[in-house]
Amino acid sequence: SHTLRLVLGDQLNPGHSWFQTVDPQVVYVLMEVRQETDYVLHHAQKIIAIFAAMREFARQLRAAGHRVRYVTLDDPSNRQSIPENLAALVQHYAARRLEWQSPDEWRLDVLLRSWAAQQELTTEEVGSEHFLTARHELAELFAGRKQWLMEHFYRHMRRRFGLLMDAQGKPEGGQWNFDHDNRKPWPGTPAEPLDARPVHDHSGLWAMLARCGVGSFGDAQAGEMRWPVNRSEALACLEAFVQTALPHFGDFEDAMSSTSPRLFHSLLSFALNVKMLHPLEVVLRAEAAYRQGRAPLAAVEGFVRQIVGWREYVRGIYWAHMPGYDEGNALGHHLPLPHWFWSGETGMRCLQHAIGQSLRTAHAHHIQRLMVIGNFALLAGLDPQALHRWYLGVYIDAFEWVELPNTLGMSQWADGGIIATKPYVSSAAYIRRMSDYCQGCRYDHKQRIGDKACPFNALYWDFFARHEPLLGGNHRLGMVYRQLQKMPPAERDALQAQAQGLRGGLEAL
Ligand code: FAD
Ligand code: SF4
Repeated sequence: SHTLRLVLGDQLNPGHSWFQTVDPQVVYVLMEVRQETDYVLHHAQKIIAIFAAMREFARQLRAAGHRVRYVTLDDPSNRQSIPENLAALVQHYAARRLEWQSPDEWRLDVLLRSWAAQQELTTEEVGSEHFLTARHELAELFAGRKQWLMEHFYRHMRRRFGLLMDAQGKPEGGQWNFDHDNRKPWPGTPAEPLDARPVHDHSGLWAMLARCGVGSFGDAQAGEMRWPVNRSEALACLEAFVQTALPHFGDFEDAMSSTSPRLFHSLLSFALNVKMLHPLEVVLRAEAAYRQGRAPLAAVEGFVRQIVGWREYVRGIYWAHMPGYDEGNALGHHLPLPHWFWSGETGMRCLQHAIGQSLRTAHAHHIQRLMVIGNFALLAGLDPQALHRWYLGVYIDAFEWVELPNTLGMSQWADGGIIATKPYVSSAAYIRRMSDYCQGCRYDHKQRIGDKACPFNALYWDFFARHEPLLGGNHRLGMVYRQLQKMPPAERDALQAQAQGLRGGLEAL
């Protein structure tokens, strides 16, 4: 009798213990379904890259001697839903047993568990063997504490995995955190490293999506679509990153450039999130570069913090607060997203670049996501759930467990401060300092009032004025509120009137 083992599209880890032995009674099942292409409107690259990587994974499993049933989107027998396909396959193979790896999305977790509970066959959920912490570990670590500080969790992880620790058990270099050294604008040198990612011809997949009528947005042209589709390609990307970009990662982690959008970021989030790479191997490779004297400590520490700190931390937040976390709207924001979120056509040069790049490449780096797009959305008062759907659709690495806490929590403060102790917002000054976007912009970063004034400025003050009842008591915002109180009433009124005009005319900005 057969056992079916379901492999989801973000579980493409050939190192999983499932695959260590070949058993002719085991059939691995992978499926492309409308349920997964359509739960949100996706960037075409995201659908294509995942399907391409799934097909490649199935090919490699077969080559290693495993039995695989791969259901393509256009397979006439495809019922386009995971449970319905499973039911049909259980019957087809007369399977007595079904196994699956823990999904990372609450939606699929509930779906698979409740479906399995209604079946007569034996079912088993196994771990995905990917993350460094268990689903509820963060919640257990912080049990009874009010603030769940990322930095506290991060130090715990450094100690636990012995990462960047010295012989005395102290943090390497005597400091846990080198953020202070890592916040420089990019002066134009060193040059952005060459993009070592592979280029594939995905025209067959693209045509299939069109034939099946799958809705999508964004570009999927070969030149812009460079995602690794298997582990060896992902490892080559990791190696290229460590050699050419990691040494400068720290210095320019927060910098933005209209000519060099990637700067020194790794572009590894897709490979990590579909589990082609293991987080520990990635950070150990970066640590080795430091030990060999090939990358400075501040850069390596900054990179390690993103992966063993932030990435695991937001996942813990997700599992601690789902279901319900996705409905948070602590600031009561309800404006719809302006159309230029899907075209990039706005006169605000920072948003034109950050959104345009997202549509073209399905990627933007952290500060573009947080301090340009997210910052604008929060200041303007855009609906956080609509924004969440946009982020979940547009980015190549967007899976709900990581996207939702970043968007709703870190970026939009819609969770009321679970992740961010204060809202991440800034006026034009920050964008001006960290990028070259303001040069050549239709708006003037110095002006606050008038047609030429940068919208971020009036929106910034208006945001704090509007939310004074909720945020005024936050001691981390004391300085902002003192400035607001010192402002002559006429000036405050003018800023609020300006902001009101902007918020009523977002489409035209
Ligand atoms: P690098 O800058 O090279 O960083 C290395 C790795 O660190 C990344 O690959 C990623 O795995 C991890 N990392 C860095 N920052 C974070 C973070 N805040 N949370 C979790 N992991 C992090 N990341 C996603 O993987 N998926 C998302 O859907 C996603 N949505 C985001 C939405 C918003 C509003 C914001 C502000 C951030 C979001 N991030 C998301 C985090 C971060 O922006 C991306 O991980 C990063 O830009 C990916 O590019 P990279 O691989 O070049 O990252
Ligand atoms: Fe963005 Fe304002 Fe600078 Fe223009 S002036 S790029 S809108 S911050």
